[in-house]
Amino acid sequence: VTTFAGRSVALFGLGGSGLATAHSLKAGGASIVACDDNPDSMARAAAQGIDTADLREAEWSTFAALILAPGVPLTHPVPHWTVERAKAAGIEIIGDIELFCRERAKTAPDAPFVAITGTNGKSTTTALIAHVLAQAGRDVQMGGNIGTAILSLEPPGAERVHVIELSSFQIDLTPSLTPSVGVLLNITPDHLDRHGAMESYAGIKERLVQGSDFAVVGIDDGFSRAIAERREGPSLRIHVGPGAAPVGGLLVRDTAILDDAGTEVADISGIGSLRGAHNGQNAAVAVAVVRALGIPVEAIQAGLRSFPGLPHRMEEVGRRGRVLFVNDSKATNADSTEKALTAFRDIHWILGGKPKEGGIFPLVPLFDRIAHAYLIGASSDAFAATLQGAVPFTRCGTLEVATRAAAEGAAASGAPEPVVLLSPACASYDQFRSFEDRGNQFRELVRALP
Ligand code: ADP
Repeated sequence: VTTFAGRSVALFGLGGSGLATAHSLKAGGASIVACDDNPDSMARAAAQGIDTADLREAEWSTFAALILAPGVPLTHPVPHWTVERAKAAGIEIIGDIELFCRERAKTAPDAPFVAITGTNGKSTTTALIAHVLAQAGRDVQMGGNIGTAILSLEPPGAERVHVIELSSFQIDLTPSLTPSVGVLLNITPDHLDRHGAMESYAGIKERLVQGSDFAVVGIDDGFSRAIAERREGPSLRIHVGPGAAPVGGLLVRDTAILDDAGTEVADISGIGSLRGAHNGQNAAVAVAVVRALGIPVEAIQAGLRSFPGLPHRMEEVGRRGRVLFVNDSKATNADSTEKALTAFRDIHWILGGKPKEGGIFPLVPLFDRIAHAYLIGASSDAFAATLQGAVPFTRCGTLEVATRAAAEGAAASGAPEPVVLLSPACASYDQFRSFEDRGNQFRELVRALP
């Protein structure tokens, strides 16, 4: 990107996107001084020819900007020290998405650019939009908060669609965010530790909606609904549940996606990767976006049908006879696990790990769907107490023991299609490196079953 050609910029955060940003700025003629709290990251960057230095010692007035890695909080609760230095020096503080936006404005202002945010469902919706577009023959570049850093993708172009997932932090660092299609799925309390008040979190997401040429907004929570109502430019609203479709918008009724005349636009019944009411919202949003980009209905339906889904989100990882095995390792809290439990019956449920506040109490109303629970990890005592008397359970300790026990239990049950479901409702760090590690191990354990 050429935005800072001939000038010097400070860059903090040398993870994947930080490195991509440094290389892209350098290639565009800027000089970079990069820094990271982690000495290994500093060394890796230096080995790639990026100038690194301790920015605490730097003369900040020589920089044109501070480029901040996504995930470094701009404001709440305490601003990062680099932010304080940059503010004191009066220079702008932006992220890699902003650099992309400026490049697009300069080189290809009409290039299609879809930006997706929301508290939940971002990755699924982003991947689904990209999948349907690619299946329909479009040149698609997908990245941002999901996978590839935006500056590692191909540059914007009139015949190329960028489908980009954005966290609130990324939006906050992108003052010139004006995508051709902006998506807000939902806003529910999360990450408040880092964002302070819910209002400021919602306010950041509203900037995306307001800045878009065309906006697609889910209206099933109070914050998103209010944002949709304040939106002045063209927009399309999505409602899931009973009632009518919003004027000009889409309604999800069970598995059918209907327009405001009641005509079915698409149907997601029988699509394993889009099970559950929450995926109705994701699918309807994706349908609205790809329709706005000119994809015909038949191609939309075909694209939905062939969507493989994302790993670790209600991912079908195998079958043994009547028994289906589902990896929902991404479910690190009760809210997410609730979505999975609602989608199945006769569940042999593997759960536990490093518990979140509230434990599994919110899931008690769904206990009648559970045939047996298999406990792993640090939460075992606490969860056993909640299950006691309501659901039969076994303390298994490890995922390996639990997977074998659940497979046997499900095979021995009389149910027509029992499900072994890993949906832990817990963080993974007591026994695993990450939720991906946990899910990958589960997939391997299922594969190794007789
Ligand atoms: P994100 O990228 O926003 O974290 P994902 O698509 O990775 O979202 O989905 C993560 C989890 O969030 C899913 O496993 C599911 O439990 C839940 N979820 C997905 N879509 C929605 C939605 N539209 N509304 C509420 N919860 C959802």
